[in-house]
Amino acid sequence: MPDGPVLEASELTKIFRLPRTAANPLRQQTLRAVDGVSMQLFAGATAALVGQSGSGKSTLVRLLSQLEHPTSGTIRINGEEVSASWGRSYRRYTEQVQIVLQDPYASLNPGFRVGRSVRRPLEIHKVHKTRAEREAAVRQLLEQVKLTPPEFYASKFPHELSGGQRQRVAIARSLAVNPKVLLADEPVSMLDVSVKVEILRVLNECRENLGLALLYVTHDIASARWCADTISVMYAGQIVESGPAEEVTQRARHPYTQLLIRSTPDPASGQPANGAKPEDGVTQGSAPETVGCRFRANCPSAMAKCAADEPPVVPLSAGQWVRCWLYAPENGPPAG
Ligand code: SF4
Repeated sequence: MPDGPVLEASELTKIFRLPRTAANPLRQQTLRAVDGVSMQLFAGATAALVGQSGSGKSTLVRLLSQLEHPTSGTIRINGEEVSASWGRSYRRYTEQVQIVLQDPYASLNPGFRVGRSVRRPLEIHKVHKTRAEREAAVRQLLEQVKLTPPEFYASKFPHELSGGQRQRVAIARSLAVNPKVLLADEPVSMLDVSVKVEILRVLNECRENLGLALLYVTHDIASARWCADTISVMYAGQIVESGPAEEVTQRARHPYTQLLIRSTPDPASGQPANGAKPEDGVTQGSAPETVGCRFRANCPSAMAKCAADEPPVVPLSAGQWVRCWLYAPENGPPAG
């Protein structure tokens, strides 16, 4: 890994105002969808962000891509704080940080042929001077995501392609402006298992060949283990455990991470080995006044202090850390 992170988020928080309810029309309810999240993305490395729906992953991706502005906290790219939400520096940021969404059909214009969709960002960001250069770049981008022969795919409309081919087009388009960071938000969750692996391979190759900092966002901790260097597990707006992928999956410490791992479907049956369902333990962010651990209602190890105080962030060995009272120093050294 290089010396410093390409993208660095510090203490990012996003609080949404919720609609007033008929039962309590005078009270403004709020939701802390992302709460004090810090993370670093390094060139040539994949960081996975894992959690079930409603955990705040997509809101965090929207903050990192500047589609949404944080309530507090900072984002730095190459060490420089990002502050503009418009103008030249905003455009420069969006060149460097690109996003790939879950549904490639929704992210591609159905009326544009593939060649035009991939060429658009080259035109908007004035990456090349001549039409011939742009056409050559489109061919190269389609080859990069293994859509060959590129001329064949460039002439297709999105509805003429499979889901996996459409996702490759979306990846090619995101690479057009030579980004430094790629935020892949559940890029394979709508695809068949065999296609998922192919798309993850394409993302992996692009990361390696282009030195990208890749954030892979997923609810599937098994796929994160397969393709990521580090894993951060998100629950109710907070990162609850983070560290090298091997450590987090082989020696998971947080009860929620352990639940995610136990509920990973068995490859043969497609069912969780022990019937565990992580979605049973998921809450949609938290109210700002929430005290104590957000997972306590679902935690088999909950203690009295889990309801009274916010769990501490406890560093473990090998770069892993966990947000849980079980590992607080006063409870003795962590087992295992
Ligand atoms: Fe469970 Fe308490 Fe740890 Fe929360 S802090 S995960 S409730 S043991």
